[in-house]
Amino acid sequence: MKRIVLIIIILISLISCNATPAIADEPRDGTYIGVHREIISPTQSYGAKLFLAGFGTYTRDYEGVHDEITLTVVAFEIDGVKSAIIAADVLGFDRELTDELRIRVQNELDIPGDSLLFNASHTHCAPNVLTNTVGIGDFTQEYADYFYETAFECIKQAFEDLTPGQLYFGSQKTSGIVAVNRRYIRDGVCYWGPWYEGPRDDNAYIIHAVCDNKTRAVLFSYAGHPTIYNGPYVSAEYVGYARNYIEEKIAGAVSVFMQGCGGDLKGNHTNADKTAFAVGGWDELARIGAILGKAVVDGINNGLEPVTGKSEVSISRFELQLQPAKLSKAQYQILMNSSSDVLAEVYKYFYENYDNLATTRPYSVMRFDLGSNLTLIAMEGEVSVEYAPIMKELLPDREVFVLGYSNGEPGYICLERQYAEGGYETEDSMKYYKIAEGYAPDSQYLIIEKAMELCK
Ligand SMILES: [Zn+2]
Repeated sequence: MKRIVLIIIILISLISCNATPAIADEPRDGTYIGVHREIISPTQSYGAKLFLAGFGTYTRDYEGVHDEITLTVVAFEIDGVKSAIIAADVLGFDRELTDELRIRVQNELDIPGDSLLFNASHTHCAPNVLTNTVGIGDFTQEYADYFYETAFECIKQAFEDLTPGQLYFGSQKTSGIVAVNRRYIRDGVCYWGPWYEGPRDDNAYIIHAVCDNKTRAVLFSYAGHPTIYNGPYVSAEYVGYARNYIEEKIAGAVSVFMQGCGGDLKGNHTNADKTAFAVGGWDELARIGAILGKAVVDGINNGLEPVTGKSEVSISRFELQLQPAKLSKAQYQILMNSSSDVLAEVYKYFYENYDNLATTRPYSVMRFDLGSNLTLIAMEGEVSVEYAPIMKELLPDREVFVLGYSNGEPGYICLERQYAEGGYETEDSMKYYKIAEGYAPDSQYLIIEKAMELCK
């Protein structure tokens, strides 16, 4: 029965995915906003020890910085309730290391650890700070130590910066396609390629933080892999160009990107006949970033709603079931010995750890109310775009921004239907997250059930 209710919710949400417009109201008193940003680009001193993470290679050498990657914290104190968004240009936040950071913030700053929302842009042009990957860019302890220490310092500085202000929110459709569905479905089977008829979300979701009648920060979310460039230089990819565009147009803005449910969407750069994705250079990143940045600026200029009412953060932690390995230990050994570099490394992991492979993996969904008319629902991992309308439907009385890539990076979070379709997200990708066969296909129902409990 529970499952039937969930299916009905999904169906309703797929037909009516527009959130109820927020009721206009006066900006509330008692809101304090603090912002702190640090550049987190590595320096040359890491040298050959450092690799960039994301694509299927663990030796994509770091040769320098093209454009700076950043970590930004926006801290809030709303009627005495403290919370913060920590956004960074990395592939993902490591669940365990992030949970350690929450404890440290609680102990040293007396700020509730579970009031922190961590979101990764998922750029593939930054060092790896995840401990749960193999074959997509080696983890470098020295950089990870620096990264999580910088996050702590930024959180501290942002709370020290708290200033009276107001928050406004809204969304704006982009004037062109920034990211497109990459799971091309033909006759129920998934092929890798741009699928313009497939689900995507062309909206930029915007939070405008204003202090003393001046812009303090512009937070914005969009769903799509920033994976157009594939080379040896550090870059914030097209989201960095979007941020720069916003900061050029809006005086005083610190712009902050939050990745949405972009697990099955990819930056819209293809060959001439739009049948295959292409690798792009800086000009292409600038073009796409400007489309996204312009939507955010237009959204602000068109007018946003003030955030009103009570702020509160809650999180649900639970375990997702994994599918058992289909290959035997002996088969992994054969693959290990017959594969080239990266895959040999991946299969070696499964061969050596075969007897201790996990059967479940920790997962979380966070409800982050900035007010009673604006909630962020933050989900771990590379979440399929169709989760967004499902989550929005759980709180129909308000605007809901749905984020993926938040608070942990446990690989792709797909819908049950997508497991039957196959493809990179459900099958090929998960081994890079040290998961043999991906999540149990019905995991979708547990995730939605837990989100429903948070949204009661
Ligand atoms: Zn990804």
